[in-house]
Amino acid sequence: MTPELPQRVSMREVGPRDGFQNEPETISTADKIRLVDMLSATGVPRIEVSSFVRAEVIPQLSDAADVLAGIERRPGVSFSVLIPNERGLERALPLRDRFDEVSVFLSASESHNRANVNRRVAESLAGLEASLAVAGEAGLRREAVIATSFGCPYEGEVPAERVFEIAERLIAAGCDEIAFGDTTGMANPRQVRDFFAAARERLTGVELTAHFHNTRGQGLANVLAALEEGISSFEASFGELGGCPFPPGATGNVSSEDVVSMLHEMGIETGIDLAALLAASRAVQEVLGRPLGAHVLHAGPVDWSAGQSH
Ligand code: ZN
Repeated sequence: MTPELPQRVSMREVGPRDGFQNEPETISTADKIRLVDMLSATGVPRIEVSSFVRAEVIPQLSDAADVLAGIERRPGVSFSVLIPNERGLERALPLRDRFDEVSVFLSASESHNRANVNRRVAESLAGLEASLAVAGEAGLRREAVIATSFGCPYEGEVPAERVFEIAERLIAAGCDEIAFGDTTGMANPRQVRDFFAAARERLTGVELTAHFHNTRGQGLANVLAALEEGISSFEASFGELGGCPFPPGATGNVSSEDVVSMLHEMGIETGIDLAALLAASRAVQEVLGRPLGAHVLHAGPVDWSAGQSH
């Protein structure tokens, strides 16, 4: 039996954060502002604009405050920033009127969390609980991203049970949304279906979001698998920018234009103008000066009218 699919999907564009933080050369603040404004114009409902991580850790995003101050606020577009810890939140809060949501993050596996933020998972959780409380008082919507939810490059298998226990702690701390990250592209569609079937039963009253990387070319298959389990919230990156610095080379979020094209061809609405999204991807490709991985960026949208002119 064909599973029933959601009629509408909510996308969060994470390229300006997940993508730009992994670019070796620095993108100018003016270019970032222009690109976020182009993304806002596509109709995408949510954009992760930058991160308030320390400049020594991720110099590429050290201009988060200037980007937030410079981008155009458009009705219907919700801006979020990534918050690594309590101090990051303190730096973001003076710009409270420039964004709507915060995302906090940790890894489900100890060794990836250690590599990424140099903390034990329990230490991260305690810190995030404090940040989430402060963010809640500031009236911010709160998302938590659990990295390595589908496997860890250092530890291999990550039991879903461990991921769910972390998610339950975060929900108790006030999260409105939990995103499960396949940070280094280890997930497969069967695993994704089993995972989200269990997650939807276990974790209620919270939005469940899938964050896939296309490191091994299985990003879209995993999106479909999640859709088949009723997941209707996805994070993706224009151009297929992005990745994870640990381990180096684990690049490539699933591309926004590839996801949007697939969804639209399947009759699933996103509210996104694919042509406008492709314009933004071409613009970032020009800024970076190298061809990006997204397929639809190179092939163009499917054109069903093509045969009629012959
Ligand atoms: Zn990612």
